[in-house]
Amino acid sequence: AAKAAGKGMFWMFSPDLEAGMQHAIRLEAGLKHSLQSGEGLFIFYQPIVDAATQTVSTREALLRWHHPEAGWVSPCEFIPIAERSGLIFQLGAHVLETACRDAAGWEDGARVAVNISPVQLGKGTLLQTVLNALTTSGLAPDRLEIEVTETAIMEGRGSVGDLRQLKAIGVQVALDDFGTGYSTFSALRAFAFDKIKIDGSFVRAAVEHADAAAIVRAICDLGKRLNVVTVAEGVETRAHFDRVLEEGCMEIQGYLFGRPAPAERDLSAIERLNKSPVSSAG
Ligand code: C2E
Ligand code: MG
Ligand code: MG
Ligand code: MG
Repeated sequence: AAKAAGKGMFWMFSPDLEAGMQHAIRLEAGLKHSLQSGEGLFIFYQPIVDAATQTVSTREALLRWHHPEAGWVSPCEFIPIAERSGLIFQLGAHVLETACRDAAGWEDGARVAVNISPVQLGKGTLLQTVLNALTTSGLAPDRLEIEVTETAIMEGRGSVGDLRQLKAIGVQVALDDFGTGYSTFSALRAFAFDKIKIDGSFVRAAVEHADAAAIVRAICDLGKRLNVVTVAEGVETRAHFDRVLEEGCMEIQGYLFGRPAPAERDLSAIERLNKSPVSSAG
């Protein structure tokens, strides 16, 4: 088929590229199937701890997916596929509904944080999706936090409009992976975020490198002046923890306090999948 497309096109279809495309197409079909059947999709939760009280303030919902043949696929791989295929809308609604339902049952009253793709913003549909999740779960709006990256903010005005609608109904909005993009400070002026999540790369570097520590300190000072809560992501060790506390971070997330973990109801299904033979072919 590549040859038939003409000589000029031939270079595009290297065996590697073709295999990569076939893999992506297979994953897309698998994702569609999982969304329809409910099989293989799980939400893990990772605690975010208040530094002052050392109690869990929030849990971040992190999507996990098991493909029948490929095994566990990272969200870094399947989220972009969902974004390109449009499946992200259904997937996003599923995460919101499940996360809100789970959080409504948490006895400690912690908030739940849900990641939203830039693709889901600026369409004018997010408010309704969020309202559906809140209504069916009975979760109070101020217990839901939406995490967006600055890419989402800088991609047109509609995104900010969508976030304003969420804020107006009492939902919290966090700026994720702060510091890794190109327009970080503009993002802070474009929307009044409730939280800034400092990317784990700065946090982990801050132990050994004075420049990274200075950046973490500056973001925390900025957070205080803007009246925005600062969260340190990727805190893996006691040394990371001590450092970010010293620089003024208010909340902590990372393997030190807990890895993302499944809800109780999913434990046995996950154990079964982990035992099942998985072919790594393609
Ligand atoms: P994120 O929102 O920045 O999530 C934090 C990532 O850091 C998670 O990776 C988490 O497992 C990982 N992490 C947490 N603590 C530590 C630590 O101490 N050390 C290290 N090295 N890593 C840590 P994960 O679960 O693989 O998710 C990757 C990304 O995929 C997320 O980054 C988020 O952007 C995206 N994602 C995950 N779930 C969803 C979802 O439901 N919807 C959308 N749109 N994106 C999602
Ligand atoms: Mg996040
Ligand atoms: Mg993050
Ligand atoms: Mg990240």
